[in-house]
Amino acid sequence: MYKVNEIFYTLQGEGRFTGTPAVFLRFSGCNLACSFCDTEFTEYSLLSLNRIVEQVCIFPSRHIVITGGEPLLQLTDSLASALHEKGFFIQIETNGTLRLNGSLPELVDWVTCSPKSQNIVIQRIDELKVVHTGQALSFYEEIPIEHPECRYLQPCDERDPVRNAENFARAVDYIKAHPVWKLSLQTHKLTGIK
Ligand code: SF4
Repeated sequence: MYKVNEIFYTLQGEGRFTGTPAVFLRFSGCNLACSFCDTEFTEYSLLSLNRIVEQVCIFPSRHIVITGGEPLLQLTDSLASALHEKGFFIQIETNGTLRLNGSLPELVDWVTCSPKSQNIVIQRIDELKVVHTGQALSFYEEIPIEHPECRYLQPCDERDPVRNAENFARAVDYIKAHPVWKLSLQTHKLTGIK
């Protein structure tokens, strides 16, 4: 059984697949406790593998985003294989502090890593998405990624319009001066869709 916080259908709001219709599978639980975490992931229902597959297949898109919390606390080879059998492209959104176990390196199609600590142990990162609060970024510029054009800086949403404006302006200035980065915005928040 899997601890599932929610399953919903929307457009991916951030990063490389912004605008892509996607089924979101949010697992409960995380191995970190970030002060700026904007995700409610503690509540859960216990769902079987078959029930998860049944629920995600209700929607027309075959792009699934497995997130959390930290999805690698629960994602298994058998669930990823079952999703592939239904034709899903599997994107995970991870903090990068856990490894892809078993056959997950082959089964996960796209790894979006949003590091929240410098303890990055995951074997493969397709896309890097750094939430920017003004921290030094040289460490993140050295992290190898499969798709060099997918190194994103995302201004932190501090739920304060003044601080958010500062974060946005600082990220834009930094990207213009360091063009290995691109801007990622939380477009689901800007457009008011979930
Ligand atoms: S790693 Fe992500 S989900 Fe986990 S506490 Fe930090 S911001 Fe929240």
